[in-house]
Amino acid sequence: MYTYKIKFIVLKDTIAFEIKAENRLVVEGFVNDLLSIFVVISKDNKLTINSLQEFSEDIENEITKFIDKYKTKLPQLNAVSAFFKKLKFGDKFIFLPNIEMELAESIELRDYLRALDEGKSYEEITDKTTDLFGDLISKYNFGVVGDQRVSIGEKEKNKRLCRFCQNKSLPTTFNNKAHAISEALGNKAVVLFDECDTCNKRFGKTIEPDIIQYLALFRTIFKVKGKGGEKKVKGKNFELRHEEQVSLKFYSVADRPKEPDKEFKLNLKVKQPIVAQNIYKSLCKYFLSIIDNRYLPHFKRTIDWINGNLEVDNLPKIAETISYHSFSVQPKLIYYIRKTDDKKIPFAVGEFHFTCRVFAFIIPLSNQDDKDFIDKKDFDVFWKTFQHFDKSKGWVFNDYSNKNARELSINLNFELNNKNGST
Ligand SMILES: [Zn+2]
Repeated sequence: MYTYKIKFIVLKDTIAFEIKAENRLVVEGFVNDLLSIFVVISKDNKLTINSLQEFSEDIENEITKFIDKYKTKLPQLNAVSAFFKKLKFGDKFIFLPNIEMELAESIELRDYLRALDEGKSYEEITDKTTDLFGDLISKYNFGVVGDQRVSIGEKEKNKRLCRFCQNKSLPTTFNNKAHAISEALGNKAVVLFDECDTCNKRFGKTIEPDIIQYLALFRTIFKVKGKGGEKKVKGKNFELRHEEQVSLKFYSVADRPKEPDKEFKLNLKVKQPIVAQNIYKSLCKYFLSIIDNRYLPHFKRTIDWINGNLEVDNLPKIAETISYHSFSVQPKLIYYIRKTDDKKIPFAVGEFHFTCRVFAFIIPLSNQDDKDFIDKKDFDVFWKTFQHFDKSKGWVFNDYSNKNARELSINLNFELNNKNGST
């Protein structure tokens, strides 16, 4: 099944619709007709689509033609027609072809439209952000999984090829449901057909426990339902539950916050030691589970590494931030795959959302890269290309290369609403 999502945003209204079809050509035809309304030819003869659009008579005519052509097949388009009827010529709107809203929200599109609405000149603002995504659209294919039910890969069991062992694990069986993203992190929606039982079990023992434990605290605070429902977290020095409210108990008085002020700084020690590199491997395993299988030949060494058959000592940094804008209870993964030969930027990048946490990571070891992006200068080129990351603040860059199991402690700042609150 092929799907394509479209969203239009004005200051006080949003409309989204999607087309789904078994036949890829049907989707492509529809998408091409739609995109052609918004395409402009730039000075250097490139076709680009600006996310920021201005409603005009031309656009009105083109949209009317487009809707007339497809509305019998896709009745939702009548709502699109109503959406545009409310606009006046000159009104600004944002067009998001197949781009997740969370991405859009993360760069505060509405604030942007508001700034325009408040009379800052169109040129002044468009100069700064000529195109919110345009540049990235020309360099990367991207898509998202997580909020919709999807099964990736071959439906028929006897035709399946395991992405991680090429059916070399004998006997190769496909009887268990393999979750593309760990079920323990709340993923119920995204299933991978092309993962054999042996690989599935192995990942569950080798790399996934580290990421699950690493994120366990957030899972409990935000009541993410994993396998077997909500979980409490037992640490070395604490226990965290979330029933009616979040409650945190320390086993020893010494570990309790000293002065019950409005703000607590807490140091929580997680029970099992964690291997940082396994967290990186798990993120890449998720990525390899959701991309189209035509890309897999480019990741042979990445797969070897995830499987434990290739040792790597240094990995690029993982960028992390906390974003309440793009909060998601279902874990969500956005993939970016380079569509040009520009080897200054990585071939593949993932953006993983779990509760309020966001991880942006390069997929290492692809045969389409000649850099490893460990050098800061190389990494910076990548980071500047992904403008929508760079625009939101609060990113930290962490090294997940360590292969040794280490005790993890998490520093959290808690704010209490009342003094008898949650300790
Ligand atoms: Zn396998």
